[in-house]
Amino acid sequence: VFIHLVNDHSLSLTDDERHYFEDEKEFKVVIKVDKEQLKSAAHDDIKLRNINSLTLDGNGGSSPTKDHKKNGVSDNESSSIAVVVGGVDDLIGLTHLHEPAILHALRLRYDSDIIYTSTGPILIAVNPFKPMPTLYQRNAMDLYRIQGNNKTKETRLSPHVYQTADDAYRQIRGESRIEDTTNPVDQSILVSGESGAGKTVTTKIVLDYFAMLSKKCTSSTDDNSNNNNNTTTTTPRKSWGGSVNQDVSIEQQVLQSNPILEAFGNARTIRNDNSSRFGKYIDIAFDHNGKLIGASIETYLLEKVRLIHPAEKERNYHIFYQFLSSATAQQRQEFFLTTKTAIDFRLLSDSGTFDRRDGVDDCQTHFEMLTAMKTIGFSEETISSLMRLISAILFAGNMSFTPSDDGESCKLDKTKSSLACAALLGITFDGLSTALTKRSIIAADETVLKLLTIEESGKACEALIKAVYGAAFDFIVEKVNTSLDRDPRATPGASGSAPSGGASIGVLDIFGFETFDYNSFEQLCINYTNEALQQQFNRYVFKLEQQEYEKEGILWKFIEFPDNQDVLNLIDVKHTGIMALLDEQCILPRSTDNKFTRYLYARCDRHPRFSASSAQRVDYLFSIEHYAGLVEYNTEGWLEKNKDQLPASAAELIKSSDFDLLLDINRFVRAEGSGAGRGTVATKSVSFQFAKQLRTLRSRIETTVPHYIRCLKPNDELCPDYFEPKNIVEQLRCGGVLEAVRVSRAGYPTRYPHDVFTARYYILGNRKDNGPAKNREDFLALDFPSRCAVAGLQLGRTKVFLRREAFDRIEAMRSEK
Ligand code: ATP
Ligand code: MG
Repeated sequence: VFIHLVNDHSLSLTDDERHYFEDEKEFKVVIKVDKEQLKSAAHDDIKLRNINSLTLDGNGGSSPTKDHKKNGVSDNESSSIAVVVGGVDDLIGLTHLHEPAILHALRLRYDSDIIYTSTGPILIAVNPFKPMPTLYQRNAMDLYRIQGNNKTKETRLSPHVYQTADDAYRQIRGESRIEDTTNPVDQSILVSGESGAGKTVTTKIVLDYFAMLSKKCTSSTDDNSNNNNNTTTTTPRKSWGGSVNQDVSIEQQVLQSNPILEAFGNARTIRNDNSSRFGKYIDIAFDHNGKLIGASIETYLLEKVRLIHPAEKERNYHIFYQFLSSATAQQRQEFFLTTKTAIDFRLLSDSGTFDRRDGVDDCQTHFEMLTAMKTIGFSEETISSLMRLISAILFAGNMSFTPSDDGESCKLDKTKSSLACAALLGITFDGLSTALTKRSIIAADETVLKLLTIEESGKACEALIKAVYGAAFDFIVEKVNTSLDRDPRATPGASGSAPSGGASIGVLDIFGFETFDYNSFEQLCINYTNEALQQQFNRYVFKLEQQEYEKEGILWKFIEFPDNQDVLNLIDVKHTGIMALLDEQCILPRSTDNKFTRYLYARCDRHPRFSASSAQRVDYLFSIEHYAGLVEYNTEGWLEKNKDQLPASAAELIKSSDFDLLLDINRFVRAEGSGAGRGTVATKSVSFQFAKQLRTLRSRIETTVPHYIRCLKPNDELCPDYFEPKNIVEQLRCGGVLEAVRVSRAGYPTRYPHDVFTARYYILGNRKDNGPAKNREDFLALDFPSRCAVAGLQLGRTKVFLRREAFDRIEAMRSEK
């Protein structure tokens, strides 16, 4: 019986045992189990619950022994290990490859706290919703790092985010399996999944692993005499753009970008207490030694509607609660907060939800964010100014207007809130009042002031809040990028190669496919993103595979793959896509959401993926058949959401401020341009800007070797140890996992050009003296296949194709020689 050790990284080692790992010596793990259990191991995925003892046997050295008398995985995680007999670390290994089998395998593993499973090119990560300390402790990282260093070893550790990160890292360093020498050097790790599935946590795990590798690399190159020293080495940075903290390692700074972005961009939602309300792609640059040298972050679509209307049982952005719970006495006084708490501000109190279910303390998080800001190099003054801005926004949300008797106009009420807001924004009350209650209209050569109704003034105030917060977010991202030393806007889409002959690894943490009872413009943008990423995924896994086999003349049973180009066309094609039609309506003077929707019906009706029944038309609804299912959209508010512009008068007001930060962030404010031409509005629109960002992201990813991580949420209650099959199946379908499993299993994941192959394996052929083969004939002359009798090896026109087992087999043969 082949015993496959999973969760081997969950061993907790004593200091004595640890040196085996530190010295990277070969060691043998002996696990003693009850014989009866082996007999009952009749089929896949049998867990051995009684592990009697575990021995680590080093290279002839003394063998520290560790007794595990405890019972099974569920008892005490830190002192138990789970063993699977003939288990399926990779679903490609399943005998029967269908939905129930995949589900069953995932469930069995989940029940044993094994949350990671491979499916060919994808790592599946099921959210455990409970701490898994042993899975992420330092010696687990070491195991994967050591395995990465020693890649000829036949056994591979269980799938893990560390494994995926390690693979990407080895590839940029040119150390990993050569799958295709024409592959780009740069890598990307694309993390996807629905809200709460674990994307952000996974991204942090990846970054932690890179930071560890980078520090290792620093200590080995900088300090050869002290190889076993695990302490962090701080490398002073050479060229910094802007003010940055010189005393902190770059690894630390990259990790510290998280608490900052999360404070301003994450919020409690129904689905996740720490839900990222923006997408992000973080590109990490390594030099030729593998040392992390910088990073750049690109963010996507911060959800601004939350600022004004957080839904019931949800919260506004964390920063508001954090700051209110932690403001110093001086800040309270300066920012007019005195004894105010979240309940005193409408932007926070309307949703009726103030706390977090996950027990995370806002005060503690704020402290961590402040530390992170200092680490990144935010000055005390900038931090204080940001808090001032946060206070101003809170007061802006409390402002009120009184309508005139005829209802045609209104005035801003002079309250403590409006006075505080004006003072904090560095503007006069009168200036604020005029900007929000009047609109300048340019007609011919004249500027006319139009009085606004109370509704219009309310909208202008909301636009001001959204614009200022959005600009503050962009400012923070820019500041972080300056510290991490790469220009955020230069990296994506550029050649992507890092300086000094290094390379980069991008990590994408972006919103997954969404379908709710009520779907609006935001859902269209999110689902559009997922369609685009799904297409790339399809291309990578399906199209490239099949085209390659065809080109090389490899026998290959073709598999139908879904193609979603038509949905993408429906959404983004120039002139006739939904986004273009929306932009077109946004520049028409008197257009409305309803007019736009009718226009949509007229223009898109024949598209096979578009539908709008007569019942839907009454309510201005339409549906799109996405790759993951049918979604019904409601077009209410789309014109405004798409324009997302600050009225010109409010934009002018910002310019008159004497608050330095506000003047600075004004660069990021999307203002209604006075005298803006038709084109100007359309190219400033959210859909236009976002589609452009998405195109850049896609072309950036195309210059990388992608690694996919699909996060799955086992239940909607966010509970540990509760696996809801219906939810998982749905997510496997949305993530295209099922199809990918089929393709990868049938495929040949490893391939070498003939000369590279023979250079590596000629020792196994019959003409060892002739050196590498140049062409197919040379290769045939080696008589390699019949000599080695390896099943799963096919000779293509320019390359040798290997199934995974074949690769492992010949690697083993090679190391035996
Ligand atoms: P969103 O799209 O809403 O941002 P997300 O996919 O980024 O969601 P996360 O915030 O990463 O989701 O995870 C949600 C929660 O799930 C975490 O706060 C944490 O409690 C739990 N979780 C996720 N991954 C893990 C893990 N590997 N180990 C333990 N808990 C986890
Ligand atoms: Mg997230």
